[in-house]
Amino acid sequence: MIRSTLTGLLAAVAVLGFVSPAQATPRDRPVDPRPSTAELAWALHALEWRSRGAVDVSEIGKSNQGRPVWSARVGHGPLRILYITQQHGDEPLGTPAALEFLRETGAGHSKYQRWLRSQVTVDIIVRANPDGHEQNWRYNYDPDAQPEYGEAGKGYDINRYHDPAVAPEDNPATEAGLIQAHHAGFDPDIVVDYHMQGRYVDHEGREITASLMWPTHPGVAPADVALAKQISVVAHRAMTEAGGNVTQYPGGDYQGIARNAYGLLGKGSVLIELSDLGAEHEQAQIASALSSMRAIARGAADGSLGTVDPGAAERIPPRGEPLPRAAGALLVDSAD
Ligand SMILES: [Zn+2]
Repeated sequence: MIRSTLTGLLAAVAVLGFVSPAQATPRDRPVDPRPSTAELAWALHALEWRSRGAVDVSEIGKSNQGRPVWSARVGHGPLRILYITQQHGDEPLGTPAALEFLRETGAGHSKYQRWLRSQVTVDIIVRANPDGHEQNWRYNYDPDAQPEYGEAGKGYDINRYHDPAVAPEDNPATEAGLIQAHHAGFDPDIVVDYHMQGRYVDHEGREITASLMWPTHPGVAPADVALAKQISVVAHRAMTEAGGNVTQYPGGDYQGIARNAYGLLGKGSVLIELSDLGAEHEQAQIASALSSMRAIARGAADGSLGTVDPGAAERIPPRGEPLPRAAGALLVDSAD
């Protein structure tokens, strides 16, 4: 009786993703879910120093308000992976996950770390939209703009300005142009863009912890869609094993969305949306994002990613209905 009750409880907790301390937090103490601009710069440069250069931090340009947009690169292997976090300023949790990934991959010389760094080069644009972070809004900061995608008086929605037909230097959304130029210079095999969404259930009524999707623009080459599906399956598996409940994301086809744009430019491009489950679940959500970063890098490094059946992505369940807006929820529900 007690055993079955406990088993049931653990199963219920596992579905929500908060089952064991080892999985619930990436470290033995909580990480800051929203480091300030200054704290982020300090953390990145401390990592560069502690890793003795294994983590290489550089500024890819400045935001409209003059804040640095950082790239942090770890590894020197032939497979190139680009992670992007926080294009939308009020979707913060990919950023601390990136710091943890850089820390565990770069700061140390275990056999595994040295092997991983020899197989992959992982570049992370850590907090692509620092002005939006400071404003705690979705957009960049461009209050005089009349954006087609964005909000007058605030700025552009950066994640609608990756259209490959627009050159970086002509991009009206400054930070999107920085990402385009950085992508072109790095030429990654894999791109994963980390966002956050509101709260939803799956089709069985269980709350989900994240959603993901591959490019849906019809012009993306089938081989590149297949690779994105393989990446999606690996991320789904890792986040599920870490206790998450992950669905497909019902994203649009527009070519200005990073997921589609970098798919159109070739290779694998995936979107991951962490649900905004509230403050008490943020450490678990950071750990979940970290598990996906870790699994994708490892799967690319050991070749297992290439053996995944892309068709398995189609069996990831679709996202269900939104939950009624919970007290304290910050996010406006909007695509990608
Ligand atoms: Zn977003």
